[in-house]
Amino acid sequence: MPQGVGMDSSAVRKRMVQKLAEQGVRDPQVLAAMGAIERHRFVDSALANQAYEDTSLPIGLGQTISKPGVVSRMAELLRNGCTGRLGRVLEIGTGCGYQAAVLSMLADEVYSIERLRGLHDKARENLRLLRLPNLHLLFGDGMLGFAKGAPYAAIIAAAGGEAVPQAWVDQLAVGGRLVAPVATGGSLGAEQALVVIDKTAQGIRQTILEAVHFVPLKSGVA
Ligand code: SAH
Repeated sequence: MPQGVGMDSSAVRKRMVQKLAEQGVRDPQVLAAMGAIERHRFVDSALANQAYEDTSLPIGLGQTISKPGVVSRMAELLRNGCTGRLGRVLEIGTGCGYQAAVLSMLADEVYSIERLRGLHDKARENLRLLRLPNLHLLFGDGMLGFAKGAPYAAIIAAAGGEAVPQAWVDQLAVGGRLVAPVATGGSLGAEQALVVIDKTAQGIRQTILEAVHFVPLKSGVA
């Protein structure tokens, strides 16, 4: 157990979940998943004592693990009040693999794609011991989505671009929902908001929610 987390991290996690509930997260399945996945295992041991604070933390290569508040908010939006599990989910931006692990508890299958080889490998390492058979890690450019797994009941992006790539909308199932940070036209794309896209038989419905701050969505692999 990394120093600073203590012998029993479940107590710290329980407090984190309580705070998330106080912040307005209601979905019991999301709260259960946040309580189950050990976030301290996904960050550098020097940062483990901060793992249950509502803060983003560096994970290397200039990227960050999202705040628990944001992960749970987006998961709740994605589930949209559904009572069972989600079907197939696509995550763009695996990073350290934390959110992917949370999603794996909420969905039948999760495909998570990362464009940086170093983080893709790190996520694989972080997730090895968890043995989540329904989580599939992919290395590639998530701007293209992952057509082989489509259609998806839900798509979630952990990096924000100028617009939602058309491929994501195309790969969303009818009745499916996409949640992503998107630039809102601030100078140099500095401002982002959470966007929800619902795909219905009648077409696309887009809702713009609160301001957020995510790392940039980039094309290609590195
Ligand atoms: N969900 C992650 C958050 C990682 S930060 C976690 O829990 O740790 C967002 C990640 O998106 C970064 O690792 C970044 O490299 C990745 N990313 C950015 N553009 C991408 C793209 N086009 N395809 C795949 N991943 C991308």
